[in-house]
Amino acid sequence: MRTFSASDELRAAVAQARRQSLSVGFVPTMGALHAGHVSLVRRAREECGLVVVSIFVNPMQFAPGEDLARYPRKPEADAEVLASAGADVLYSPDAVRFYPAAFSTSVDVAVVSEGGEGAVRPGHFRGVATVLTKLFLQVAPDAAYFGRKDLQQVAVVRRLIEDLDFPIRLVVGDTVREPDGLALSSRNAFLPADARPRAAALSRALFAARDRARRGESDARALETDTRLALEAAGLGVDYVEAVDPATMERVDAARPGIALAAAVRIAGTRLIDNVVFDSERSRP
Ligand code: AMP
Repeated sequence: MRTFSASDELRAAVAQARRQSLSVGFVPTMGALHAGHVSLVRRAREECGLVVVSIFVNPMQFAPGEDLARYPRKPEADAEVLASAGADVLYSPDAVRFYPAAFSTSVDVAVVSEGGEGAVRPGHFRGVATVLTKLFLQVAPDAAYFGRKDLQQVAVVRRLIEDLDFPIRLVVGDTVREPDGLALSSRNAFLPADARPRAAALSRALFAARDRARRGESDARALETDTRLALEAAGLGVDYVEAVDPATMERVDAARPGIALAAAVRIAGTRLIDNVVFDSERSRP
């Protein structure tokens, strides 16, 4: 695996792969890698000739007062994880070179960025869309790999790719979970041991809502309300529970297959997000 921090070196490596007619797969991350990230890298490895992974804790997507300074950073362990997952290139840009002092451009993906995480974290998706625009231009991949755990991010990226005509295939990977259901997240490391068991209540409540929908409950408001009550009863602070169309992130009234229930909670000073997508009894895995 080759590691670059300068964009011109990265571009040269991608150009060389292109001359060999290799397709390029790209997995953007913020590091502190876990099995969720690895599942995306392995998928890219299966599908592409050159696998580029970026690790960049993007300051622009953290609002003042958020956890930028304490976001976990594990460069050595991450490099080992990526090498054994089969990545070819690790791109770790330097924040000062990536955003020089005069940097003035931002990319706003309206509508899909506005509810959910966007409402609780103003400016977050502007930071996400801006960093991804730069990374997509630098890496110029054929395919980009994202996790469904970040449901709204996927919707924002889909619009960004379509609106700006990036010739990039968007690949969405399933959420990788701990045995008790907790979605893997770099932020899980912040959970104190005594709060950790309670964190599983988030996925448990979402799975319960999906089960009810499978049994015929189609009232999205009822599913939202009962999920919120279950989360509160487990001692979690609820930022939102919303049934949405995952393509547009618009709230919906009917919980039909393909609709997602997305939630964000606070537990012991840490924010966790998760979602389930409703399916039909017949399509159940
Ligand atoms: P992050 O490092 O948190 O920015 O995440 C990088 C990529 O990994 C994003 O596309 C995430 O959606 C994805 N990801 C994060 N957690 C998981 C998970 N538990 N399962 C699958 N993908 C994930």
